[in-house]
Amino acid sequence: MHAAPAIPLAAGFLPDDWKQLCAELGVPAFRAAQLWHGVACRLASEWDQMTTLPAAFRQALASRCDLSALTVCERKPSPDGVTKFLLACRDGERIESVLIPSRDRQTLCVSTQAGCAFRCAFCASGALGLARDLEAGEIVGQVTAAARELRAAPGAAPDARPENLVFMGMGEPLANYDNTLRAIRVLNAPGGLTIGARRMTISTCGVVPGIRRLAEEGLQVELSVSLHAPDDRLRQSLMPVAARWPIAELLAACADYTARTGRIITFEYTLVRGLNDQRIQAEQLVRLLRPLHCRINLIPLSPVDGFDGRAPDAETCARFQEFLEQARINTTLRHSRGRQADAACGQLRLRRTGDRQASPRTGDRQVAPKK
Ligand code: SAH
Repeated sequence: MHAAPAIPLAAGFLPDDWKQLCAELGVPAFRAAQLWHGVACRLASEWDQMTTLPAAFRQALASRCDLSALTVCERKPSPDGVTKFLLACRDGERIESVLIPSRDRQTLCVSTQAGCAFRCAFCASGALGLARDLEAGEIVGQVTAAARELRAAPGAAPDARPENLVFMGMGEPLANYDNTLRAIRVLNAPGGLTIGARRMTISTCGVVPGIRRLAEEGLQVELSVSLHAPDDRLRQSLMPVAARWPIAELLAACADYTARTGRIITFEYTLVRGLNDQRIQAEQLVRLLRPLHCRINLIPLSPVDGFDGRAPDAETCARFQEFLEQARINTTLRHSRGRQADAACGQLRLRRTGDRQASPRTGDRQVAPKK
C-alpha cells in the first residue's frame, strides 16, 4: 500500500483553515466564506461546480487541496431500509458507513479507522487488525457521501443530510482522537452541515485517557461506552482492552465525564447467550451502574463467524432488560438492523478484504465474514 497523498482533504477544513489558505494564496478573505459554503454546505465534488470563484483561483485550489476524499464502491440496501456503504479512500483502503433511517430522521454510523487494533472477540472490525487512522476529511467525507445520496433521491430537500451521527462504525474513535474531534468540529460548525453536537455519539471500547480528555473539550457530544460484561475477568475474555483499563478505572472516568459535562453516558452491552445474559450478570450490572447517572443499551449479538457465540432468545433479552428497568436503570433493547447488509461492525469490509487476501495476517484471529 502506498502512503496517502500529502495534499490535504478539503472536507477536513474548518472555516479558519480556509481563511489561512486564502491568505496564503493572496485572495480576499470573503473567498474563505465562499469556500466553506461550497465545500461544507453545498458539498461540491469538483472545483468547477464553484462557479462564484474565478477560474484561475479554482485551478490554484486544485493543487492545494483535494475535494474527493472517498469513492462509493458499493451500496448494500437491506429490506429494513438500512443501507451500508463500502467506500474507498485515496490510498485504496476500504471503509464502511451505514445509513439507518427512522421515522423522522436519518442516522449515519461512521468509521474512524480502517480496521481496528482492539480486537474485541465478536467484532469483525478487529479481525484484520488496524490498517490506519482515518483523516478528519475521511470521517467527514462519509457524512458528505451519505448527504449526497440523500439529496439525489427524488423529491429530496437540497440540504438533506443525516441528522444523527454515531461513531460506531469501524475503529476506535478515541484512539484516533485528534482527527475524530476535528471531524466533529467541522460537522458541527455553523454554515456547514451543522449537525448538533448532541446529535453525535462517540462510542468507545473504554480508552480511559480519551474519555478524560474528551471531558475537557467543552463539547456537548454524547458518549457511549462498550461495557459488555460486569466483571473484569469476563470483560477481558471479550475485550482485551479491559486488561489495560479495569472496570473500576473506566467507571471513575465515566462518572467524572458526567460530572464535568452534564451528559448522561450510555453503556453498550452486547448480549451473548449463556455468557453475559444471566440473572447474575444483571445483578452485578445493577450494583456497578446504579451509582452512576447512566443508560444501558442492550444489543443481542449479531453473529460473526469465528466467534463461537449466539444471541440469547427474545425472552432472555426481555428478562434482562426488565431486571435493569426494575432497578430503575433506563434500558433499551436495540435490535441490530441491516443484518442482510452485513451491517455489524466491519463485516462488509472484512468480506471484501477477505476476497483480496489469501489469508489473514499472521497472529490475527481467523474470522470469516458473515455471508
Ligand atoms: N470501538 C468503538 C466503536 C465501534 S463498535 C466501541 O467499541 O464502542 C460499536 C459497538 O458495536 C460496540 O459496542 C461493539 O462492541 C458493538 N459490536 C461489535 N460487533 C458486534 C456484534 N457482532 N454484535 C453486537 N454488537 C457488536
